[in-house]
Parts: sequence; C-alpha cells; structure tokens
Amino acid sequence: MLALPKRKLRCSFCKKSETQVARLIGGAAGGYICEDCVGVCNTILDAAPSPFKSWNDLTDEQLLTSIKASEASVAALHSLIHAQVAALRKREVSWTAIGKVLGVSRQAAWERFS
Ligand SMILES: [Zn+2]
Repeated sequence: MLALPKRKLRCSFCKKSETQVARLIGGAAGGYICEDCVGVCNTILDAAPSPFKSWNDLTDEQLLTSIKASEASVAALHSLIHAQVAALRKREVSWTAIGKVLGVSRQAAWERFS
C-alpha cells in the first residue's frame, strides 16, 4: 500500500495552499481563509456598510466596488462548493444525498457538479 503524502492546508475560498499565502486562518468547522480572501471580505463589508441600507443609498463608486467584490466572492464560493462536492463524491456520497441537502434532484446535482 502506498503512503499518501501529507496534504497541504488550503484556503477554503480560493484554494491557494499554505505555501502560496502569507497567512492562513483556521475556523472551528475545519475551514481555512487566507489573508487575501479576508481582504475581499473586508472590501465587501466596507462597500456595504450596513445590511439595512438600501442600494440606493450607496454612491456609484460604493456600488461599483461592491459588485466587483461580490463577484470575487461568488467565484470563491463557487470554487468552495465544487471542492466540497468533489470531497463528498470521493467518499462515495450519492448524488441523491447531495441533491437532497441542496434542495434539487439527483439529476440536477449531477448536472451542476460533475
Ligand atoms: Zn483565499
């Protein structure tokens, strides 16, 4: 039996490894976030200072900054969910079980992630 190499820690958002980032912060649930992704989060929070504020209250500049940060965030989360589904599939968790927690059919889960 082959010995598997020790896995590097990775940012759960952008997937950069511990050797590619300056700092990596671990969460209680086993996820990690790198310094760059913390920066993206801070940009989002700065762009939308209050969740109760209407988009109409933001300046054009704030809203433009906000959509750029939101898009980066969506891309990072997209990468995260694909990695999570890949890990589940590696454990032979069924498409039916994955679809169930996402509220979609087995077929829809398969089409979205395979
Ligand atoms: Zn990251």
